[in-house]
Amino acid sequence: MRLFAPLYLSNECINNCRYCGFSRDNPILRVTLEVDEVVAEAQHLARQGFRQILLVAGEHPKFVSRDYLAECVRALAPDGVAVLNADDARVTGMARDMEPDAARMKKAAGAGYATATDLADYLVQKIGLPFREAHHITGRIVAVAEKEGVALSRLPLTTMKEIEPRLGEDVRSVLSPERSVKSRTSFGGTAPANVRREARKWLKRLEKTKPPGDRVAARARP
Ligand code: SF4
Repeated sequence: MRLFAPLYLSNECINNCRYCGFSRDNPILRVTLEVDEVVAEAQHLARQGFRQILLVAGEHPKFVSRDYLAECVRALAPDGVAVLNADDARVTGMARDMEPDAARMKKAAGAGYATATDLADYLVQKIGLPFREAHHITGRIVAVAEKEGVALSRLPLTTMKEIEPRLGEDVRSVLSPERSVKSRTSFGGTAPANVRREARKWLKRLEKTKPPGDRVAARARP
């Protein structure tokens, strides 16, 4: 099991999602951390034993700009090691001894509503909705699926169409975890070719941390 500790960078947001405490109409104190405050928070989490930090922020082009996010990530991971500290014996030991169970992983990936973002992307790309609206419609569809106790991919199209009549039969193809994983082909995405490339890179890197006698050629599983 891997625990991610959220590190809240900013609660500034231009959006007004009804369920969210960061919504712009909420009369709350707005704070955006300075980069040195972000580092101090991360160091505190690291001292508590957290090795994975999830950076969280609202959507605000002024306060949470791409440059600000890049600066935070650079400050936290100057050598690009954002998630895995290759010198950490506990992590390397876990990675070495881990035996992935493909069937269980597949089942877990399909549980919950992990492909809800694919549905929102579909509404944006195929129907041309603004993301804010797509997000809202997706939330309503997920709520129905949850109430009926079924996975998103098993919710009848007729039920989904009661919420958004413009949905087509092709929406089914975006709701499977396999398709979702394959579709993320941009940098850092989950497409198999990306994952293999990253695995090769990290295996090589981990290999360099071993004493010379223990090294074997780094190889990613097919
Ligand atoms: S965009 Fe995100 S942070 Fe902003 S109000 Fe909506 S859910 Fe909250």
